[in-house]
Amino acid sequence: MSHQVSRAAVIGAGQMGLGIAYVTALFAKIPVGLHDPSSNGLKRAMENLDKIFARDVAKNRFSQEDIDAARARISPIQGDGTDANGGTVVHADTDIVIEAIPEITDLKLGLMHRLATCLPAPAILGTNTSSISITRLAAAASQADDGGESSGRVVGVHFFNPVNMMKLCEVIPATQTTSETLRRAKAFGEACGKTVAVSSDNPGFISNAILMPMINEAIMLLERGVATKEDIDTTFKLGMGHPMGPLTLADLIGLDTCLNIQNVLYNESSDSKYRPATLLKRMVDAGYYGRKSGRGFYTY
Ligand code: NAD
Repeated sequence: MSHQVSRAAVIGAGQMGLGIAYVTALFAKIPVGLHDPSSNGLKRAMENLDKIFARDVAKNRFSQEDIDAARARISPIQGDGTDANGGTVVHADTDIVIEAIPEITDLKLGLMHRLATCLPAPAILGTNTSSISITRLAAAASQADDGGESSGRVVGVHFFNPVNMMKLCEVIPATQTTSETLRRAKAFGEACGKTVAVSSDNPGFISNAILMPMINEAIMLLERGVATKEDIDTTFKLGMGHPMGPLTLADLIGLDTCLNIQNVLYNESSDSKYRPATLLKRMVDAGYYGRKSGRGFYTY
């Protein structure tokens, strides 16, 4: 049986959540609830979306009519999409929910369990995690009162930053994911205008298993005084043809997110090659998260 995806929900309206809502509304052309417990976070997300939409029209990427239709498909909703703390539960007809809350394992395990309880099968329980085991998240979902069936509808649906520009969606089946869930998740990624690459549930999947150690090594070089941040970034831009250097990219991703991902790689592998750079830890301690806080390796 083909379960069409005709309504979506995104939990967490940060830089990734708003981007996922954008491609869902503009490319997949389906209604999407954008949930966040923070009213300020939701307001900021809708303002940022409006800026992206306005740029699309100014640059003739889309007509005003297409943009107006996409904007109307996105509903900002306060809460985390479950009944936790009296929040608004995701729409009962939701076919796919994608969580994009911070990269903190316990937060995601708790949310996945509550989503599985609030949203019955066959709705897909998707996660945009950068590194956390999809299989663990699926096990958390199976604890919902459904006879353990929910683990089969959990899947990694990993978009890239900025979602409106990057053409890839990495899809990661958990050990428990059914082939039907995998098929539908891939179809959803493609409907959002992305090319899909499938990875098994390896720590960091394909992308972050390679990218994050590279960023961490760049931070270690800076820490050891091997080169300036500008020279490290210039080396990658001009020597390897990367659109931006690893320290600029770390600021874009968010240094808190980079540290959380690196910690997952380290803890999951018990391999010292993944230990996070001390400088990265100290910058996060100081609240220097990169672009989103106005200061990281560079000032914004
Ligand atoms: P972010 O910090 O920009 O946004 C997180 C949002 O989640 C915030 O709006 C916050 O208010 C909300 N939130 C916090 N706690 C919550 C909760 N308990 N329930 C619901 N919402 C909550 O983070 P981001 O950069 O958008 O990252 C989100 C996820 O996407 C993470 O798992 C991250 O690893 C992953 N990811 C990030 C990038 C990137 O480049 N930043 C790329 C790919 C994947």
